[in-house]
Amino acid sequence: MGYQLLNKDFNDILNQLKSEYKIYGPKRFENKGRFSDTDVIGYGEIDKLEDIVLDEKTYFSPKEIIYPIRQTLFYFTEDEVKVPDAPEDKVIVFLRPCDINGIKRLDTIFLENGPYKDVYYERLREKVKFFMIECTEGFDSCFCVSMNSNKTHDYAVAIRFNEENVLIDLKDRDLLEYFENYGKAEEFTPEYIKENKAKVSIPYPEKVTNEMFEHEVWQEYTRRCIGCGRCNTSCITCSCFTMQDVYYDANKKVGERRRVWASCQIDVFTNMAGGHGFREKQGQRMRFKTMHKINDFYKRFGFHMCVGCGRCDDVCPEYISFSKCINKLYSIVEEGNNDEK
Ligand code: SF4
Ligand code: SF4
Repeated sequence: MGYQLLNKDFNDILNQLKSEYKIYGPKRFENKGRFSDTDVIGYGEIDKLEDIVLDEKTYFSPKEIIYPIRQTLFYFTEDEVKVPDAPEDKVIVFLRPCDINGIKRLDTIFLENGPYKDVYYERLREKVKFFMIECTEGFDSCFCVSMNSNKTHDYAVAIRFNEENVLIDLKDRDLLEYFENYGKAEEFTPEYIKENKAKVSIPYPEKVTNEMFEHEVWQEYTRRCIGCGRCNTSCITCSCFTMQDVYYDANKKVGERRRVWASCQIDVFTNMAGGHGFREKQGQRMRFKTMHKINDFYKRFGFHMCVGCGRCDDVCPEYISFSKCINKLYSIVEEGNNDEK
């Protein structure tokens, strides 16, 4: 069902939706940027259409809405364990097609990777509806078209923002009661970006042999990467976590166990009991991340993990470009160009 609504009518609808849903969107956080007196665009609760930032890319992805940075798995005492109740709020998220596809990757990891579902993820995820922001331009570092993640039909509502009105494609009939008394019926089919400025070519996974394991291409990243982990925390598809026990009491018998986001790029990520660590060098870590995003995941699930949102390129303090890294790999594997370093 398609509608054209004045912006003020859309804001009325958002107001009504707030009684039932928490509504998140890309918004400006003033003075929270990397440098003093700078802002950052991230995901937060919004009140009205004017809060939504459309002309800048978010530094962080919307993944923390369904996969929080810190999440309590259970509380414990000496003789009792209690799993926290599931949050009751239903959630609406305004996001772009690449991020919807990114969340599909998280669904695959948490819900479809083996016989058991991640119940903590599932109980948040099942409460979320997507309000897709039509995206036909992208940003400089985006390469979603190359990753085949520029389109999706998995949304409750798709929206084209114009100056004074919005066009809506409403798929979720549960929301019909909110929309049917506003605006006028008008067919609307969202369009999608057809070409990005940045493009990648991905080597065919079966052609990536063990020789790539020790290839000197990775040495550049040992020299340049400082292991800060920003590329992971900003990535919509990175899902690794570590465990943290927090004690409320000196005798360590009362407390809570949390899971907390982890990063394959930082020190100690691979440490095992006894202190043995794999992938000590940054180049080895970059190799691991790259192979996971565009090789191993594909072999297991039939599509790539990376959705080409380009956030890792945007946030890297060393200006390391993941899209360039993928293209270097392609050049080595598919074109036999061993001068790539
Ligand atoms: S690896 Fe980079 S481009 Fe790919 S999904 Fe993650 S942040 Fe986006
Ligand atoms: S953001 Fe850049 S410097 Fe930091 S870990 Fe990632 S690749 Fe390395």
